[in-house]
Amino acid sequence: MPHRFRHMLGTEPLTAEQITFLLDQAKPFQEIQQHPLKKLATLRGKTVALAFFEPSTRTRISFATAAARLGADTMNLQAEASSLRKGESLLDTVRTLDAMKPDCLVMRHSASGAPDFVARRLEIPVINAGDGTHEHPTQALLDALTIRDRKGTLEGLNVTILGDILHSRVARSNLHLLGKFGCRFALCGPAMWLPRELECIGPPGSSVRRVTHIEEALEGADVIIVLRVQQERQHEPALSLDEYILLYQLTPERLRCARPDALVLHPGPMIRGLEIDPAVADGPQSCVLEQVTNGLAVRMALLFLLIGTAPESASESPAPSKDAADAAH
Ligand code: ASP
Repeated sequence: MPHRFRHMLGTEPLTAEQITFLLDQAKPFQEIQQHPLKKLATLRGKTVALAFFEPSTRTRISFATAAARLGADTMNLQAEASSLRKGESLLDTVRTLDAMKPDCLVMRHSASGAPDFVARRLEIPVINAGDGTHEHPTQALLDALTIRDRKGTLEGLNVTILGDILHSRVARSNLHLLGKFGCRFALCGPAMWLPRELECIGPPGSSVRRVTHIEEALEGADVIIVLRVQQERQHEPALSLDEYILLYQLTPERLRCARPDALVLHPGPMIRGLEIDPAVADGPQSCVLEQVTNGLAVRMALLFLLIGTAPESASESPAPSKDAADAAH
């Protein structure tokens, strides 16, 4: 059954059925990434506003490319160059953008809840591209697509999330999303990055363990999500980087504690030699580049669902048709 989405602010409110629908919608857009001509006319005449109030490389480029491949135009606001620096409020800035009549707003902000605050005040759909330590829903969706493709299912997997969980919106969005499919989580890192509240973050009945020994956390893992050490958010690091490497870097030896077919994911930017050994980052179990390609497919599907023309009937697929691909320009 098709689902309608007004905004995409987080994975927490999504049901397993809605998530499955979103991932299914991304399939044809995955195929398009393999075509020699990748540009569709599906969103021709539409405009996507990209407002990144916090630095971003891959997510911003991914949304901009997703919009371009659907034929939409983009409006770009970068915090460094914006009037926010001159003291303008967030709401005035987004209302100014909105007055230029974009069809949706993709927004990243360092404050948890900022996209929700904006979504309540604008008429257009808002997509959260990462807010503080709260959520990064499109990252979790692209992770889920990558995992489902490789494992054939999301149901009941053992997922180890490794590293700076305290500061990670990626960890939270993944807990909400994968928890809906009965995944069991081992959260691993230094104790100061494993707040007790994370045990209750998933859906009711979720199995979440906090583990400080990496070998124990990796035992039986089907999926390992390695997180970046967010040095910009550490005020008084209780652990030196050398100690972190010694205790928590994902090395080939440690990876052998997981299941032999365990997948290794990283949301990027990946710091080789700190949280992950290059041999693992480039090894056969690594999905890092697939994640990037799948990010385009997920964001194209989402833009299409939020601002594309709604299908006339439930039986009509909202996915791009061959005609749409032929209409590439
Ligand atoms: N790119 C991800 C984010 O924006 C992860 C990271 O920055 O470490 O949350």
